[in-house]
Amino acid sequence: MSTELAIEAVRFDEKGLVPAIVQDADTKEVLMMAYMNEESLLKSISSGETWFWSRSRGELWNKGATSGNVQSIVSLKYDCDGDTLLVLVNPKGPACHTGENSCFFRELSGVNQARAYVSGTGEAGAEVQAGSRFDVLAELERVISEREKERPEGAYTTYLFDKGVDKILKKIGEEASETIIAAKNKDNQELRLEVSDLIYHLLVLLEERKLPLDEIMQELSLRHERPRRD
Ligand code: AMP
Ligand code: ZN
Ligand code: ZN
Ligand code: ZN
Repeated sequence: MSTELAIEAVRFDEKGLVPAIVQDADTKEVLMMAYMNEESLLKSISSGETWFWSRSRGELWNKGATSGNVQSIVSLKYDCDGDTLLVLVNPKGPACHTGENSCFFRELSGVNQARAYVSGTGEAGAEVQAGSRFDVLAELERVISEREKERPEGAYTTYLFDKGVDKILKKIGEEASETIIAAKNKDNQELRLEVSDLIYHLLVLLEERKLPLDEIMQELSLRHERPRRD
């Protein structure tokens, strides 16, 4: 482990803590953030594994001690004013206790819409509501419809519409197969991507067939009221 850290340069806060951002040394994915105190920092340096201070449990914590997902430290950096650490690691397994690779797996949905909502600059007539979970579907439907009309050069959606319905159907078949493979491999990172690809291509198909997403929603809610058996 190479350490570019002079511990005197680290500025612990009034509680004796410093935030440590943990990043995968190879993929550069940001994995997690936790706090270190001086003791956990020294333990991290001497052991070459990440140690933190758990504020909720009030104890030192060796990441991976129970899960086995320890993190070997590749390098330890501190920022310009010494109040934040950056720990580059080779992780043995997922960093998050939920089993996700990174703790940052949730999107604060529709950030742009939320911003418009907060600042009151939302498009006229567009009922933007911060945090509505499925806003992104309606937005995607709108963008796809716009691409279909304007056919901007170089856009993948334009390419699909230019190729025609057979190409779209072929893509749906591919993405459905890839979804199945990801699910069989129990690889949720991959499944997230493949389901997203599948949903996107389904929305392209709906636009090609001029079947509004609202009709699908209607059908789903009808089934919810009176479940079909099939
Ligand atoms: P581990 O350190 O992976 O053996 O997990 C032990 C416990 O530490 C878990 O049950 C969580 O309470 C906590 N923990 C593990 N990873 C994280 C994380 N990335 N962020 C916050 N708490 C965590
Ligand atoms: Zn966390
Ligand atoms: Zn700083
Ligand atoms: Zn987490």
